[in-house]
Amino acid sequence: MRNCSSLKIDGPCKVYLEESELPKAWYNVRADMKKKPAPLLNPGTGKPMTAAELEGVFCSELVKQELDNDTAYIEIPEDIRTFYKMYRPSPLVRAYFLEQALGTPAHIYYKFEGNNTSGSHKLNSAIAQAYYAKQQGLKGVTTETGAGQWGTALSMASAFFGIDCQVYMVKCSYEQKPFRREVMRTYGASVTPSPSMNTNVGRKINEEFPGTTGSLGCAISEAVEAAVTQEGYRYVLGSVLNQVLLHQSVIGLEAQAAFKKIGVKPDMIIGCAGGGSNLGGLISPFMGEKLRGEADYDILAIEPASCPSLTRGKYAYDFCDTGKVCPLAKMYTLGSGFIPSANHAGGLRYHGMSSILSELYDQGLMRAASVEQTKVFEAARLFAQTEGILPAPESSHAIRATIDEALRCKETGEAKNILFGLTGTGYFDMVAYQKFNDGEMNDYIPTDEDLAKSLAQLPNVGC
Ligand SMILES: *Cc1c(COP(=O)(O)O)cnc(C)c1O
Repeated sequence: MRNCSSLKIDGPCKVYLEESELPKAWYNVRADMKKKPAPLLNPGTGKPMTAAELEGVFCSELVKQELDNDTAYIEIPEDIRTFYKMYRPSPLVRAYFLEQALGTPAHIYYKFEGNNTSGSHKLNSAIAQAYYAKQQGLKGVTTETGAGQWGTALSMASAFFGIDCQVYMVKCSYEQKPFRREVMRTYGASVTPSPSMNTNVGRKINEEFPGTTGSLGCAISEAVEAAVTQEGYRYVLGSVLNQVLLHQSVIGLEAQAAFKKIGVKPDMIIGCAGGGSNLGGLISPFMGEKLRGEADYDILAIEPASCPSLTRGKYAYDFCDTGKVCPLAKMYTLGSGFIPSANHAGGLRYHGMSSILSELYDQGLMRAASVEQTKVFEAARLFAQTEGILPAPESSHAIRATIDEALRCKETGEAKNILFGLTGTGYFDMVAYQKFNDGEMNDYIPTDEDLAKSLAQLPNVGC
């Protein structure tokens, strides 16, 4: 049983910023990288994608942000800052109760992004992308969603600015999470299970892999096709791209300001990595300090053992989607044909990784590790029982790694400051929690042969 009287609370439990202290500009970490992330390539010509080519698919202002490797601070438009005030700042929380349960001398902090209806950090970029689509006078946007958090966030953002929103939802999630789907529909979005029979690429994938439950890569191909074949529509993506990491930097900027306020410096920063947007956003300003030689941080990306792009993938140019309709990105990848086992962290089932994070990882500026599903849910349960928040399975990957690090500190006696990103809540993941509670969860890890098969399909662009 918890012994509250022995709990020594020697600082604030939660650090909130005043509204006047909220970031007025996003921070673009590429500006401080000496070696920049590799550019997107046109799969037809093998040459870097030009702004004109990208504007067929993405909103113009977002294309500018995507290609901007040099501007360190990009102003957050007033309308977006106003919307942010609905649910930001997000709290920086000291996990006193978890520390006590672990008996660790480490100080654990988390930045909680689950305090909005989408239940995750994804709203930070969704609102920006919907804003720029509206500014450009578009009718609507198309997108994919895996677990449903991104689709929900974009539905909310599209409803706010009054534009149409068409979501291709990975089929296994569509079936497993009917309530997610209804949230999106309540915000006015149309939701189609992917692969569908609505698009050429969907029909082709269904033919090639009958009965497939889909993947993020398939859904992206369908959403891109839907955007380019409808007048007044553009495609938006919830992770991976440079622009998304830029918008998510609001997480790191707030965290950095909150730490300054209490005079604490994190030693280690941990985040789960699917396409890399929350981790990229959380670490950006800290990585900036590191790149400029002002401070050092130990930064750790955590991925599922079932979809280990950083830890077991290859750093190479690859397609961002299964249907091979998107530009090529240089990234740590498992191959665009890799379809991970149906593990329960839907948001971490992407075959690739942000080009920015891939480059930082390749330069040795951050580390990566993978964890198995059952261990992740054990950590989730302990966190829910001690800190009160029911975490998303994705976020729980970071919790697992944080607990392991805090237990290491217990052995060494190190009073390290650990910051991790608590990206969201898990209320729509109760099927996963049920499997865990019933002892029916399994930990499928792809074999080297599985990976070799999809990696053999990497496009040949000689870098
Ligand atoms: C989507 C999602 C992630 C993973 O996506 P990233 O782009 O890697 O951040 C992590 N946590 C939650 C709650 C998510 O919804």
